[in-house]
Amino acid sequence: MPAGMLIVGAGECGARAALTLRDQNYDGPVTLVGDESHFPYERPPLSKDAIVSEREPLPKFVGDRQHFIDRKIECVTSTRAIAIDRASRSVALANGSTLRYDKLLLATGAAPRRLSLPGAEGSRCAYLRTYDDALRVRRALGSGCHVAILGGGFIGLELAASARKRGAVVTVIEALPRILTRGVPEEIARVIDARHRAEDVEIACGRSVLTLREDSTGIEVGLSDGSSVTADLLIIGIGAVPVTDLAQGAGLAMENGIAVDEQLQTSDLDIYAAGDCCSFPLAIYGSRRVRLECWRNAQDQGVLAARNMLGAGEKVSAVPWFWSDQYDLTLQIAGLPDGGTRIVRRDVSDGAFILFHLQDDGRLMAASGIGSGNVVAKDIRLAEMLIAKRAMPEPAALAQPQVKLKSLLAA
Ligand code: FAD
Ligand code: NAP
Repeated sequence: MPAGMLIVGAGECGARAALTLRDQNYDGPVTLVGDESHFPYERPPLSKDAIVSEREPLPKFVGDRQHFIDRKIECVTSTRAIAIDRASRSVALANGSTLRYDKLLLATGAAPRRLSLPGAEGSRCAYLRTYDDALRVRRALGSGCHVAILGGGFIGLELAASARKRGAVVTVIEALPRILTRGVPEEIARVIDARHRAEDVEIACGRSVLTLREDSTGIEVGLSDGSSVTADLLIIGIGAVPVTDLAQGAGLAMENGIAVDEQLQTSDLDIYAAGDCCSFPLAIYGSRRVRLECWRNAQDQGVLAARNMLGAGEKVSAVPWFWSDQYDLTLQIAGLPDGGTRIVRRDVSDGAFILFHLQDDGRLMAASGIGSGNVVAKDIRLAEMLIAKRAMPEPAALAQPQVKLKSLLAA
């Protein structure tokens, strides 16, 4: 009897990996271990629909209990894996049991970066990563309540939009001079900034939090410029850190998360890692090592890791892609914009636009677009295909909306 495939981390990536093993007709034991009490669910709705929907939502499951039973996948919930014994190929769980494996996948994800300040773990401070966190934030929000949000990144801004829809008064505090510094071009960040201000969100950039004082009436957030914000709730969204304790304890190589190769294999050939927890070399960017924190990457890598655990030997080839929804605006970015040295703008319609990020030699490295609803989606998808082809499209053609990107792909 084979020991089978063991997956630690029952998020997007781990769940997709487990399901893919069955899709690939693997018929040995598959076990998925997660420390949350719920079956695997999607996180993107947690800062969006889960906050604004009229009724308290259920998690949006990747698969529910019956689905995993039908696929003969053993799901162990509410249980943390605490140690890997590489010599005996086994994993110890916090409930005292031990599971053996032939191949192990670590899909342990990321966790919110904690604010290290006295008072930051108080009852009026909240983080958002899990469904339970989202319910807590949702219950605390209401018309007229004042929410301070620390961090002008994706969590902070998506929550600001959702909180405004719920009628809350919102102040966003960002330490850097502008919002969305990491990975989002300034021209696009300006559109998002203006949209929030038009919705009466106060955005305070260039100020960090120095003190927190909480009492029965609220929380006072003391800022570096001497001012303060008083709120009912402080939501902290200052980034995420990869969850690596298990891998580190087992002596696996680390580099901005668990270091894996192009096939998602760690420094132990029987152990794979995928999703938010790992960094990997990306061939289309000269094997630059990256760690991505986005939904499609978690899905794609879950599928790839499962295939490779079965011996497929395939390399990561997907172009990074993510989206963010705020009000009616959708931002989409394909590729890594910081790889470009020159930007070409294409105006699409009704204020929507796409920025193409080109290298000195003319190669397209990334495309970032912003607009209402799905207006930039098709062009971003085509840009993604151009990036994958390492295309060098004419900048003048990229700038003209009349020139179809599909025609550049054919060229
Ligand atoms: P995770 O989803 O973090 O799952 C890892 C799981 O492993 C967790 O349940 C964790 O508790 C568990 N775990 C960790 N260690 C152990 C252990 N030792 N034992 C057992 N279990 C363990 N991306 C987008 O592209 N677009 C979006 O609009 C978007 N919105 C988002 C909104 C929110 C609120 C959040 C939090 C994220 C959002 N993301 C979005 C990012 C996307 O959801 C993540 O990139 C994706 O969930 C990563 O999946 P993962 O499986 O790698 O990690
Ligand atoms: P994030 O997008 O990295 O943004 C964090 C922001 O907080 C950054 O602007 C950061 O600036 C700032 N910051 C850091 N320390 C600070 C401090 N002490 N005071 C004030 N500001 C500070 O991370 P996030 O918004 O917290 O999101 C967490 C995770 O959820 C990430 O994995 C993210 O990808 C995921 N998520 C994704 C989406 C999406 O893709 N649409 C939506 C929601 C959540 P620096 O750059 O200087 O650190």
